[in-house]
Amino acid sequence: MTQTVPPPAPLHDTLSLIGNTPLVLLKGPSEAAGCEIYGKCEFANPGASVKDRAALWIVRDAEAKGVLKPGGTIVEGTAGNTGIGLALVANALGYKSVIVMPETQSREKMDTLRALRAELVLVPAAPFSNPGHFVHTSRRIAEETEGAIWANQFDNIANRRAHIESTAPEIWAQMEGRVDGFICAAGTGGTVAGVGFGLKAFDENVTIGLADPHGAALYNYFAHGELKAEGSSVAEGIGQGRITANLEGAPIDTQFRISDEEGLEWVRRLLAEEGLCLGLSSGINVAGAVALGKQLGPGKRIATILCDTGFRYLSSLYNPEWLRAKGLPVFPWLG
Ligand code: PMP
Repeated sequence: MTQTVPPPAPLHDTLSLIGNTPLVLLKGPSEAAGCEIYGKCEFANPGASVKDRAALWIVRDAEAKGVLKPGGTIVEGTAGNTGIGLALVANALGYKSVIVMPETQSREKMDTLRALRAELVLVPAAPFSNPGHFVHTSRRIAEETEGAIWANQFDNIANRRAHIESTAPEIWAQMEGRVDGFICAAGTGGTVAGVGFGLKAFDENVTIGLADPHGAALYNYFAHGELKAEGSSVAEGIGQGRITANLEGAPIDTQFRISDEEGLEWVRRLLAEEGLCLGLSSGINVAGAVALGKQLGPGKRIATILCDTGFRYLSSLYNPEWLRAKGLPVFPWLG
């Protein structure tokens, strides 16, 4: 096969591998919605998720403010992907990383963090109001560790700045300034708020949508002004119950509640029909993009986020026993 586009020139810094991810037209979702749906391939980042961007911006911000000194330690509470991003950035810049994670997260994320040289601290899953919650535990460890900073991804707005300054302008350029809508789910809210602000700065008429999993409170907040959660979801990394600093003032125009079954159906179809192996938050985002496309009408151009790689979930989403135990459908080829 002949290469039609010249390959990019070599880079001189491994951290510049973060961002500038490809955008791909998703055929099945576009057909289902009657418009063009594009996926931003965040699994192509070095840590295989969208959170590499937040990790890099948070660390650069702490350096610029002079709070992170050479040889220092970065501490964070995370569902996993931010920890993976922070561990890689820490290694590249000569810092140590301590990652606090609920023990309910995927086995692959834990093994990956250990492999990446992070010090991993596992805590029982607990509500945010509990002092043992992974976020509070990570803040305490940071306070008690000499030369450490707390990355604080939920309320540190360097997180959403990553998306204002990188993800949004990339999408705008890749879609040649013709963007009608953008939608994704929220964990910290950095992606949806940051891309939302960033795209609206190019064109205030871009519709920004929120795809909320069951068990999260944001759908009700944006629809009715009340933080109220119903149901539950097995999706990792998304599902927020409060307005984080990153979500404050987020320009959300429309919102959809998406079930795990709908998200999984897109994970299955994108794998079987388009050769993409993704995690469940990507499936929920694509289901949201199809819903937004139907709302905006035929011929519109919509972008969403393909947040992380499915290889991170071989023991869960791609494991028939795990799926059956959760009462979720098993991909037919897995039996
Ligand atoms: N999907 C996955 C798999 C994630 O790990 C995260 C980050 N928590 C998100 C989506 C949501 O991103 P954000 O924190 O920017 O809202």
